[in-house]
Amino acid sequence: MEGKCLQTTVVGSYPFPGWLEFSMNHIDQFGPADREELLNDAVSVAIRDQVAAGLDVITDGEQTRIDFNLSFYSFIEGIEPESASVRLFGPPAHDQRGKHQITGELRAPRGLGVLAEFERLKRLAPAGPRLKASVPDPYTLSGRLIPNAEYPDRYAVAEALLPFVQQELAGLVAAGCVEIAVDAPSMSCYAYREDQKRLTELFNRTVEPVVGKCRLSMHLCFGNYKGRAVGPRQYGPMFPQFLEMKVDEVHVEMASREFSELELIAEIGKRRDVAVGVVDVKSYYIETPEDIQKRIKRCLQYVSPERLLLAPDCGLSQTARWASRLKLANMVEGARRVRKELGL
Ligand SMILES: [Zn+2]
Repeated sequence: MEGKCLQTTVVGSYPFPGWLEFSMNHIDQFGPADREELLNDAVSVAIRDQVAAGLDVITDGEQTRIDFNLSFYSFIEGIEPESASVRLFGPPAHDQRGKHQITGELRAPRGLGVLAEFERLKRLAPAGPRLKASVPDPYTLSGRLIPNAEYPDRYAVAEALLPFVQQELAGLVAAGCVEIAVDAPSMSCYAYREDQKRLTELFNRTVEPVVGKCRLSMHLCFGNYKGRAVGPRQYGPMFPQFLEMKVDEVHVEMASREFSELELIAEIGKRRDVAVGVVDVKSYYIETPEDIQKRIKRCLQYVSPERLLLAPDCGLSQTARWASRLKLANMVEGARRVRKELGL
C-alpha cells in the first residue's frame, strides 16, 4: 500500500436514506429526469457522509443498487423471477429474497451497470478520497439463479456470468478506476463445503485481465442480508488457499466475531494488504474511538501498519444511517489517534 499507514476504507454499501426507499416504492410516478435527479441526490448524500467521516477511501454507497444481487439481474437476459420459494412472513432473512429461473441464453448486452455507477461517483465526488468501485465475483453473482439443463450447476452458471464481470472490470480500469473491490461473500460463506481450489481458480480467471492495472481488493464476509449471517463464521477453511487469489487487499470480518482467528491476518499480511473489520455493522453498540484504538493495536501485533487498513465488517446497507455515521467517524478518529501515537 502506497503512502499513509492505517488507511480507513469501506465495503461498498451505505444505508439508503428513508426518502430514497420511499421513492423507489413509487418510482413509476417519476419521470426519467426525476429518477436521474433522485439517484444523483442519493449518491451525493452517501458521498457527503463518508467524506464528513474523514475516510481515505469512499464508494458511491451502492445507492443505485436496490438489492446487492437482484439489481444486477435486471441487466441480465435469459432469466425470469421465480417467487415460489419465497417466504413472505416471519423473521427477516435471506430466504425472503426471490430467486430467478434461467429461461434462455444468459446475456448482458448492456453490461452490469457498474461502469455507469462509477462515472456518477467520479462526477459527484470531491477531490481527495480515493474512489472505489465494487463488482461481485461470478460465483457470488450466480447465487440467486436456479441451475437448469443448459447450466446444470452453480459453477456452470458462474462460468456463464464470468465474461460479464470481466467486461465490467476492464471497463472500470479504462474509465480510470484505480481501486476495485471484488465482493466475494458467497465464496467465504460456502468455502467450508466447496472446493476452495476451484473457487480460487474461478476468481483468478475473472480478475486476470485487470491484475496489475488497478488496486484489487476482495471482501470475505459471512453474509449480512437483513443483518444475518449465512455461513459458519470461520476463516480456517479458506486459508491458506485463498491467499492464492490475485488481489492486493483482503478484507476480513472481525468485529462481530470478537476477533476470533485474528492471528490469521499475520499469514495474509505476508503476501497481501489486509483490511480488518473493526466496526460491527450488525450491532447498535457504537464503538468509541478508544475501542477502535484497542482493536487496531491488537491487529498490529500481527501485521505492520503499512499493510493494515481499517474498515467496517461489511457494507453498511443494513445499519441505520445515524449509527453508520457515528461508527465511521469513530473508526477514523481511532485510526488517527493510533497514527499519532506511533508517530506515523
Ligand atoms: Zn459483506
